[in-house]
Amino acid sequence: MFLYLYNSLSRQKEKFVPINPPSVGLYTCGPTVYNFAHIGNLRTYVFNDVLQRVLLYNGYKVTRVMNITDVGHLTGDRDMGMDKVEEAAKERGMNAWELSNYYLDTFKNDMRKLNLLSPTIWEKATDTIPDQVNLIKTLEEKGYTYKTSDGIYFDTSKYPEYGKMSSLDKKGMREAARMDFNKERKNPSDFALWKFNVTGKKRQMEWGSPWGIGFPGWHIECSAISLKHLGNPFDIHTGAIDHKETHHPNEIAQTECATGRKMANLWLHAGFLNTQSEEKMSKSKGNFITLRTLIDRGFDPMAFKLYTYGIHYRQTSNFSWHALEAAQKAYTRLCRFVMGKPGVSLNVDTPDLNTPESGLTLIEEYNSLFANKINDDLNMPKAIALVWMFIKDERVSNSDKMSLLEKWDEVLGLQLKSEIRSPKSQKNSKSQMPKEIRGMMREREKLRKEKKFDEADALREKIMKLGYDVVDKPLIL
Ligand SMILES: [Zn+2]
Repeated sequence: MFLYLYNSLSRQKEKFVPINPPSVGLYTCGPTVYNFAHIGNLRTYVFNDVLQRVLLYNGYKVTRVMNITDVGHLTGDRDMGMDKVEEAAKERGMNAWELSNYYLDTFKNDMRKLNLLSPTIWEKATDTIPDQVNLIKTLEEKGYTYKTSDGIYFDTSKYPEYGKMSSLDKKGMREAARMDFNKERKNPSDFALWKFNVTGKKRQMEWGSPWGIGFPGWHIECSAISLKHLGNPFDIHTGAIDHKETHHPNEIAQTECATGRKMANLWLHAGFLNTQSEEKMSKSKGNFITLRTLIDRGFDPMAFKLYTYGIHYRQTSNFSWHALEAAQKAYTRLCRFVMGKPGVSLNVDTPDLNTPESGLTLIEEYNSLFANKINDDLNMPKAIALVWMFIKDERVSNSDKMSLLEKWDEVLGLQLKSEIRSPKSQKNSKSQMPKEIRGMMREREKLRKEKKFDEADALREKIMKLGYDVVDKPLIL
């Protein structure tokens, strides 16, 4: 059975043929660690996780590399404005290194809560400055760079294939870039490889280089890190849909001009998850919902994961609390079924599978259908529909159902077989808790039921400051 993936470069689904089977090199653009990840970001990482799991399920050996942007990502993606990490650190009176480490930890924590597989290699931008400087030197030697008063830039006019993946045509890209055009740049789409510190104030994160003290542009880290660990070309590069217009074309330009070889064979992009106001969820707009928000409102991280499986990864969609509630109920039913708990009523369509005439057993038939769905550009909505159909099918024994679901969970990653996960037992035994804390816990529970989440949050902080862990029970069970 073949795996088909939609390639943003060719704009079509392609049969996946690894360069060096069974090994697969996979690169994921990682987070910029200056704030919590919002659920729109996390949806992209759920997609990345499914991709990694599907590759493993197909028997490939995956080396997945993820960068951590802890320097150089400016508030304007076209290398204008302020460094997001430095700015956030300044606002909070924190050290930029501490701040980025803190948000990297919270990101990893979110990944653990969502049961997302860890990349094989995590690499911080700040740990690869010499690699980035060397890559810029190569580009300079080959004549692709020029200097302005604020940095070293890549001359996109020297690379005729620039922007081959973008959905905008060349004119559109020029127009988009013109909005924040720096007059010293030769072309609007040119981008910074190395930025000088022009503020006159010493930055917390800066390094010496052949061009002077400064810091790398945002895009060069991904070229340097992927070259360091995967070489080129490698198999698959992933990211969110907004990377398609600027960040990824810039990565391609850097790597392909420096090496004369293709960067990656397949480029996969996940759609956005917007808030209900239909605005892209973004940290800078402050309209974002974090995983903590969901947990505080009683949702299981696995329910969020199941929610995202209801939408194809390439589709941009609007987040809905109502749909998340439905996913929470569905997740609870699914877990109870797998745990062999009675009283699970399943309200799904009657299975449309005929008695198989293919020589396969019914179980094999289901298994092959499941593989078809996930191998069809990771079609999780259809895979999940099949899961419900399978559970409902009275021709299959419960023990067969449970063992196959357990196998499918290697892809779903929903922790179906682990002990009932929600509510997680309190780490602090209630009997050992002072009366005062127990009272505060009860009061907080009451506030949550009354949906007074701000007051409940404040109380949680207070309880945690007193050294007690607060783990919520889902509200809607
Ligand atoms: Zn990247």
